Order: sequence, then C-alpha cells, then structure tokens
Amino acid sequence: MNYEDLKATNFIEEIIIEDLKSGKHKSICTRFPPEPNGYLHIGHAKSICLNFGLAEKFGGRCNLRFDDTNPEKEDTEYVESIKNDVRWLGFSWGEKEFYASDYFEKMYEWAVELIKKGKAYVCHLSPEEMRKYRGTLNEPGIESPYRNRSVEENLLMFEKMKNGEFEEGEAVLRAKIDMSSPNINMRDPVMYRIIKSNHHRTGDKWCIYPSYDWAHGNEDSIEGVTHSICTLEFEDHRPLYDWFLDQLGVYHSRQIEFARLNLTYTVMSKRKLLKLVQEKYVSGWDDPRMPTISGLRRRGYTPESIKAFAEKIGVSKSNSTVEYSLLEYCIREDLNKRAQRCMVVLDPIKLIITNYPENHIEYLEAINNPEDESKGKRKIIFSRELFVERDDFREVPDPNFFRLTPGKEVRLQHAYYVTCKGFKKDDEGNVIEIYCEYDPDSRGGWSSDGRKVKGTIHWVDAKASIDVELRMYDHLFTKENPDDVEEGEDFTKNINTNSLVLKNGKGELFLLETDEVHFQFLRVGYFKKDEDSKDGKLIFNKTVGLKDSYNKKGK
Ligand code: ATP
Ligand code: MG
Repeated sequence: MNYEDLKATNFIEEIIIEDLKSGKHKSICTRFPPEPNGYLHIGHAKSICLNFGLAEKFGGRCNLRFDDTNPEKEDTEYVESIKNDVRWLGFSWGEKEFYASDYFEKMYEWAVELIKKGKAYVCHLSPEEMRKYRGTLNEPGIESPYRNRSVEENLLMFEKMKNGEFEEGEAVLRAKIDMSSPNINMRDPVMYRIIKSNHHRTGDKWCIYPSYDWAHGNEDSIEGVTHSICTLEFEDHRPLYDWFLDQLGVYHSRQIEFARLNLTYTVMSKRKLLKLVQEKYVSGWDDPRMPTISGLRRRGYTPESIKAFAEKIGVSKSNSTVEYSLLEYCIREDLNKRAQRCMVVLDPIKLIITNYPENHIEYLEAINNPEDESKGKRKIIFSRELFVERDDFREVPDPNFFRLTPGKEVRLQHAYYVTCKGFKKDDEGNVIEIYCEYDPDSRGGWSSDGRKVKGTIHWVDAKASIDVELRMYDHLFTKENPDDVEEGEDFTKNINTNSLVLKNGKGELFLLETDEVHFQFLRVGYFKKDEDSKDGKLIFNKTVGLKDSYNKKGK
C-alpha cells in the first residue's frame, strides 16, 4: 500500500496513517468487542462501521471478539444475533471469531505473574468497605488492610479463589497501584471477582472472572490489536489499560477513544433495551421501533443506509446527540433508489366511476421504479369501482385542497382524469361512496387536450386488490431525551403509547406476486414486507415517511 496517497478523514485515521508511515506497524488490526449480553444497536453499528471500515481502508484486519467476561448476563442467543447483525451489515471477520473466555487461562497466568511481582493482592474487604476505602475525587483513598500480604499468601489465596473456596463477595484480586492517585481508576482496581454462575462457553470451569479493565488490554495484546478503539468513558481508564500492559511487558496495543453515538428519541443502553423487551413495552429485540440492528432491519433499514449514516455522523472526540431525522434521511435516500413503487390505500373509501361500463376491466401500466429503468413496468387492473383514501375527499374543501371534492377534476395516478359528481352518506352522516365521471381520452393519466389538474391521487381497484395490514410506527419515546424525567421516575415514563398504529388497507394484487420486500407506497411512505406475513395475508412495516424533515429544518 502506498501510504503517501492515504488521506485521513478523522483523527483516528490520522493516527493510523502516522503509524503506518513511521513503520510502527506494517499492517493494522482493530477489533469490535461486544459483550454478548444483548442485541446490537445503532450505536454498535457506528463502532462496527468504524472498526471494520478502518481495516478495509488500510488493508488490515478487524477481529470480532466476544467480551464474555460476565456469565450472569451473557447468552449464546446474543452471540448468534451479534454474528448475524455484523454479517448483515456486510462485514466479515476472517476464519473465526474470538472469545475473551478463550484467554481465561492465559489471563490467570498473567495475574499470577503480577502477584509474584508484588503488583496484585487478594483483598477481603466487602464491596461497601471497598467503596468507602476508595475515597473521592477530592479525598485520597485508604489502603486495604490486606494490601501488604506476602506474595506467598496472595498466591495461596488467589488459588483458593480460583478453586471456589470463597463465596461471592468474600475475596477479590486487586492491582496494587496507588490509593492516593488523582485518577480513581488507579486506586487498586479489581482484577478478578468471584461469580458462581454457569458460563455459556466455559461452563463451571471458572468461578473467578476478570474485570473489564484487566481483561480488555490483555485481549487486545493477545490478538495483536494495533489500535483499540473505544468510547470516551474509557479515557480515564487508559492509564490503567497502559499500566497493566506495561507491568506484564507484553505487546502493547494503543487505546483511542471516540464519542459514542446518541440519538434523539432513543435509548441506547443495553440495560434499558433489555427492560423494554422484558417488560413487554415492545414485541422483542427486533421490534421495528427498537434502535437495535435487528429492529432497524425489520423496520426496513438497509445495511447501505446504516453505513451511509455512520459515514455522515463521522468520528469525533466530543459527545453529542444526533437527530433521528438524519437516520431517516439516509434510509429515504437509499430506498428512493431501490424501492418498488406500488399503490396501497390506507383508509379505503369506495369511488364509483358512473360513466365507466359495468363488468369491464382494463390493464394499465405503471412504472416500477422511476429511479431505475431496469425494473420495468407492471400491469394494474382498472374498473368501474375503486378504493381511494378517505382523506383525499372533502365534502367542503378549504381553498388549498386540490383533491376530490364535488365539481373538481383530479388525476388517478397511472389511470385517468376523473371529476367528482357526488357522494353518498350513511345514516350517521359518514361519506361511504364517491361518484365520479372519467375522461376516456386521458388514459395513462394525461389528457389529450393538454388540460392540467392540480391533484393526483392513488387508488386500487375494488375487486382486483387485496387486504393489507399496515403497521405505522412513530418514535418509541415522546421526548427527544427519553431520560428527561422527574426524580423517582424512569425513562419508561416517556414511552409513546401511540408509537404503533395498525391500519387495514387495500393494495394492488401485484403485492401477492412480487418477491420485492422494500416498497414505496405512492404518497404514503416507504414500507417493508414483514416476516409475519403468511397465507396470503400481507403485513407491512412503515420504514419512514416520504417527506424529508431533516432537510426541511435547513440542515
Ligand atoms: P452497555 O450499554 O451495557 O454499557 P455497551 O453498549 O458498551 O454496553 P459493548 O458490548 O461493551 O456494549 O459494546 C461493544 C462496542 O460497541 C464497544 O467497543 C463500545 O465502545 C461500542 N459502542 C457501544 N455503544 C456505542 C455507541 N452508542 N456509540 C458508539 N459505539 C458504541
Ligand atoms: Mg461496554
């Protein structure tokens, strides 16, 4: 690779290019290290695009590593979903994925090494005592009474920990650093704690588990990760990351921090997402309202749109919150290019063309995708009785209403000009039928004399159409910041109880025949066929509306 030609698009790339030019690294290795304790979300997608993207750009590799160091919350269901999501985004991770649990033996040996160097000790303070002894930002900590045990005693105690001779909470292994360090992370942090639960991969082999701080640098070092990219909260942990690797004298990866993604109207913590699932605020991890990758996929997001989003938000050093509408902008751009056009009526009302022959049908043509000629055209059946949107009719219009109203002419998309001549109401006064006359000389939706109409509406044939269920989604939270709550409340207080509205509409017969999954229902929005569709019953998730609120705001 010719390093001179490389151009950095962010500060991490600058570091990498520098390291390649200086010869510090011949090639780079990054990693994406999820803990398998939940499904991946859009924030993880940012990290995936960044880490795998760097490896692609600089011709290196990116490891997928499961940071499975806490058996209580982890599960193979999560491992499988994570692999599936990363693959779906379009990234691959070489021959095999890595697991922190594969390094438990090595890490144990390294811990013993630190004990032998007098750099770690077994401590029996209770968790509350530990907290008290740790001090605060303004006050130094107090040394544990167990801090100055002999190396022999520590080795023996650590062995006992490993052999299950202590109960949970009775002993931990701590690094012996500095209880008065201004950085609290350096005040003799915990390296191992006792957890007596079954691990999804190692079973009951271990009852001591490494802390994140101890484990992460070790994992990076073992894998030869050159650039270990994590979110900003870990900036204060970097001295500890470096300290452990320096004490061991092993390969030293470089930790680099970047700002995590936050999105308006969205929670991103796995603990909160789990709560939404467990307490059934949503139908599961892949509920189309969830910010999980599986939720976005089911909603109709594409890998391309998510990558474009990651590209647009970029990588920075300061935390901020991105507007949800930017994500919507990215999917709209992508779907505009790929979505099959089709007509669906959300809230059908009958329209009868009184001058059209009874028992007659004709086939009209419609373009499948104006952005992609190769998609061709399809046939749509047209006859005397149609369905149109209830909302496209007004008995008494306001001046800006250009759709169906008595006396006015409109275009039926792909079909004919029709003029509204009347309507019928039921006993309660609801309009139930609209009567129109069509202009036979306007076939295809264009009049022969060049006269113009202001409104174009969509429709489906009353007989040649099918029932469709439309799942109309809105933000899951009513507030831009779902965590904005009064004391004593939690984020579930801000759940939007109208975030899912079901509509029973009518769609073109074409929907039954096609294998396409992404649609633009004309004038209605972008939709994805849902996997719940079966036995001829079609269900569609609304991916995003047609209007661009992001650009409207002048961004
Ligand atoms: P939790 O929500 O429980 O704190 P986590 O989101 O940090 O967990 P991990 O499985 O530890 O979950 O994350 C894997 C990787 O994804 C980490 O490198 C982390 O930095 C990155 N990551 C997680 N959330 C975001 C986010 N919102 N934006 C960017 N990267 C993220
Ligand atoms: Mg984490």
